[in-house]
Amino acid sequence: MDVLVLGAGVTGLCAGYALARDGHAVTIVERNPEAAREASFANGGQLSYSYVAPLAGPGVIPKIPGWLLNPESPMRFRPRLDPGQWRWGMKFLAACNPTMADLTTRRLLRLSALSRRLVHRLVEEESLAFSYDRSGKLVVLSDQGSFDGARALMDFQAKLGCTQQALDTAEVLRLEPSLARIAPRLVGGIYTPDEEAGDCRAFCLGLSDILAERYGVRFRWGTHVSQLVAQGGRLRAVMTAAGAMEADAFVLAAGAAAGALLRPLGFALPLYPLKGYSLTLPVTNPAAAPQISVTDAARKVVYARLGDRMRVAGMADLVGYDTTIRPARLDLLVREARDAFPDAADWMRIGPWTGLRPATPTSAPILGLVPGLENLALDVGQGALGFTLAMASGRIVADALAGRQAAIEMDGFQPSDHGL
Ligand SMILES: Cc1cc2nc3c(=O)[nH]c(=O)nc-3n(C[C@H](O)[C@H](O)[C@H](O)COP(=O)(O)OP(=O)(O)OC[C@H]3O[C@@H](n4cnc5c(N)ncnc54)[C@H](O)[C@@H]3O)c2cc1C
Repeated sequence: MDVLVLGAGVTGLCAGYALARDGHAVTIVERNPEAAREASFANGGQLSYSYVAPLAGPGVIPKIPGWLLNPESPMRFRPRLDPGQWRWGMKFLAACNPTMADLTTRRLLRLSALSRRLVHRLVEEESLAFSYDRSGKLVVLSDQGSFDGARALMDFQAKLGCTQQALDTAEVLRLEPSLARIAPRLVGGIYTPDEEAGDCRAFCLGLSDILAERYGVRFRWGTHVSQLVAQGGRLRAVMTAAGAMEADAFVLAAGAAAGALLRPLGFALPLYPLKGYSLTLPVTNPAAAPQISVTDAARKVVYARLGDRMRVAGMADLVGYDTTIRPARLDLLVREARDAFPDAADWMRIGPWTGLRPATPTSAPILGLVPGLENLALDVGQGALGFTLAMASGRIVADALAGRQAAIEMDGFQPSDHGL
């Protein structure tokens, strides 16, 4: 089949890889001049296979006034005259209960386990260089209630196949001595030895080269898709400034922009952008920078070592599609990171960035064929876990287009589960 993939972020490229491995003739259309210029550019770098619990958790509702009122909160919500934001918000609130959170965690663990297998196979078979690191993740907690909650989640996940250990502060420091500065406020941590990290942009650039050189995938860079054209229960073409592009099948992997493309065909994707920030700093003192990935749960900031750089990421702002860097939000992230690792990096060269996580209210991505458009597969809504889930998502949409059963149970991920 001729398959057209819309979007060259990490999800579109991984879908292109799965489709090319299946022997299809793949073309990837991207409005930017190269891969990973949007959400996949400078994310937290975590391949977070065991930390998949949804944002819509049972403890979230009491925190909402803080998100509205406190400008220093790691999450911000600015209400807008946008029915899409309100619809998303109502569905998000409806998902904030323990039953739904447990169910989504179980589902996402299935998807992330598949991704882990596929990432390992990709790394073995394609020798992709992306500062890939397999030294695990340490989530550090600053109050007893959160530590107890994290241990309860660890026990729940142990039954689902995750290997994690609870550590007291002394053990945390033995594992990651660079945490000395914040140790006085820590009560402990959870260590997950088989978590991984890497540079998502380098992954995407490397994968797009591999796709072009080894799999004959064609790229149409700098090509903006303005419209999807459907006819007789199928997608017939996509419109670009250079004219219509036809194919036998299509994959929509346009990140936060996917909803706007699908809406004229009468489908309302439950997607909203969660704006996040990151810093990328040159490490000047390796002993003072974290060696393994660290999540500071109280401050909602993640740290990853990417070779001789340190990536810091945080913030989740529901403020629309604007990607302007807000100085107050950036300063907050710099302050948190500099307080934690003051001697690790060159703080005059912070490499600031902001991107839009394409989020669904439940945090479960939308994967599979659009009802009534049998040759269009959706690969959207990976939210805060797009790097982690991209390989599995790509495999699933390739299987859907081939009419094959997915490798995992698909409840919660299918377009019909998301109201389509
Ligand atoms: C601050 C931050 C930290 C994060 N940390 C992590 C992390 O640690 N681990 C993790 O797993 N995930 C993380 N994520 C999430 C992850 O980065 C995203 O889920 C992922 O990058 C989404 O990939 P995507 O391919 O769906 O979207 P994108 O990367 O945005 O790609 C979509 C592509 O579609 C193209 N496109 C859109 N519309 C059109 C059009 N009309 N015509 C042509 N092209 C179009 C865009 O140009 C873009 O290149 C983080 C995100 C942020 C913002």
